[in-house]
Amino acid sequence: MAISEKLIESVVSEVVEQIKSKAGTDGYRFSVPIGISNRHIHLSLKDMEILFGKGYELKKIKDLKQTGEFACEEKVTIVNIINGNEKSIEAVRILGPLREATQVEISMNDARKLKLNPPVRNSGELDGSEPVRLVGPNGYIDLKQGCIIASRHIHLSPIDAQKTGLKSGQIVDVAIRGEKPGIIGNVQCKVKDSFVFEIHLDTDDGNAFLQKDGDIAEILTK
Ligand SMILES: [Zn+2]
Repeated sequence: MAISEKLIESVVSEVVEQIKSKAGTDGYRFSVPIGISNRHIHLSLKDMEILFGKGYELKKIKDLKQTGEFACEEKVTIVNIINGNEKSIEAVRILGPLREATQVEISMNDARKLKLNPPVRNSGELDGSEPVRLVGPNGYIDLKQGCIIASRHIHLSPIDAQKTGLKSGQIVDVAIRGEKPGIIGNVQCKVKDSFVFEIHLDTDDGNAFLQKDGDIAEILTK
């Protein structure tokens, strides 16, 4: 019967896939928890004081998984004025602590809404990135640059790096399981004492693969 042949075929290919994955024919696989990063903003002291007032202090509401990083109560509006039309996204969360330079991290979906064209960048690499306006309760700033789509990355402590053999700056592929699986490429490993083992994806990637915070991905190493 055609149906049972088809079934056998599919069972065989499933078993072969499982053996392949267990044998690790193309290297080792390390499970890593997924953290989905919603749009957010890191502020410099100067910009924070323009948006919220001189001497203002950000109010922490929650520690993030990465040591020392936290979500703040404060939110601002991202604005882009194009041909006299104002495009905006309200209530964008501020993350602490303060940084040297203000950085606005959005998804491509957000960028389309705002009619912006930010580059895909590593955090902190802002030269020539997209200009944008931020509006807070005390004032606004026109940033000459600072808006990016964050590149996919994995946070590792030096111990995680040692265990996995991954090096800072190394680019890896990561397999995502589930109902909409796939392999994502160009994922950069970042090693720092304060880091906790976690892959950070933006909401576009998270939604495309139906992943949520705490789901598990597999790092593919060759
Ligand atoms: Zn991150």
